[in-house]
Amino acid sequence: MKHKNIAIFIPHAGCPHACSFCNQKTITAQEHLPRAKDVQRICKQALTEIPDRRNTEIAFFGGSFTAIPREYMLELLESAQPYLRQDVFSGIRISTRPDCIDREVLTLLKQYGVTAIELGAQSMCDHVLAANDRGHTAQDVIDACTLIREYGFEQGLQMMVGLYESTMQDERFTVDSIVSISPDIVRIYPVVVLKGTRLAKLYGEGSYRLFPFAQTVELCADAMWKFHKSGISVIKCGLHASEFVEQDMLAGFYHPAFRELCEGRIYRNLLQSCIKRTENRRITIVVHPSEISKAAGHKRENLRFFEENGVTLKLLGDRNLEKYQCEIRE
Ligand code: SF4
Repeated sequence: MKHKNIAIFIPHAGCPHACSFCNQKTITAQEHLPRAKDVQRICKQALTEIPDRRNTEIAFFGGSFTAIPREYMLELLESAQPYLRQDVFSGIRISTRPDCIDREVLTLLKQYGVTAIELGAQSMCDHVLAANDRGHTAQDVIDACTLIREYGFEQGLQMMVGLYESTMQDERFTVDSIVSISPDIVRIYPVVVLKGTRLAKLYGEGSYRLFPFAQTVELCADAMWKFHKSGISVIKCGLHASEFVEQDMLAGFYHPAFRELCEGRIYRNLLQSCIKRTENRRITIVVHPSEISKAAGHKRENLRFFEENGVTLKLLGDRNLEKYQCEIRE
């Protein structure tokens, strides 16, 4: 069953840091801090909008939830309790920093029905974390994940692709390190340079150069593929299409269909392996019906790519196939 979040954004609350890329007010597109009454209003509204709520979590996103003033954190958790007690929603999801996790806070989160914890890891290379003012190390990510697992929470990691001073090799190292940690889910965020951030300043001065867009898509496609093969679900790849990001963005890897571009890239590689196995130049390939448009590529670019290389592809659906499974149909 598809997982759903009732997202409640806590913009920058309690965060003592200023990461090079962060402008939380832009990302969350909201400036005021939600209070108990806001949580209740949002939950009540979700009751009317989501008929089947068996796999629906109340999600406190946008800030560093476990670093906000304790009284405020408890106010938010308390206000969500009536909806958990009556089994209205399946749990609470939070996002926070790796260095804001300890046994005391995990015990508290458990008592209040939190089910999933997502950490902003961003990179697993200490020099990249330091260059982007993250204020934590890769070891902090590993330690926090070990504790989260020990307490039985669902575990998520967020990585950011293309940060200041990061190389392609560093990105691959981060992906491999996340695979070894083996979280339940990951979110991949290619960097977007927002006005008012330190990245914007570095970019303006010319000391921060972004990877080429096509290479970034390829990198993210490889990451998605590795995570998929390791049984880690990629629940996000690219920022949400949003007018707020579009207004405040100076540069970066923002594309309203970023995930689709990456999945198209994965399918191009898979289709290429299929094509190599036959001498035919007019080929029918079957994939799961829900994957046909991804296999065809964004605006059918994969079909055009193969056509330009002398191969006419026809894609058909077969419900017996899994995601990313491609077979030649004679
Ligand atoms: S820790 Fe999170 S909220 Fe704080 S500055 Fe960094 S990205 Fe922004």
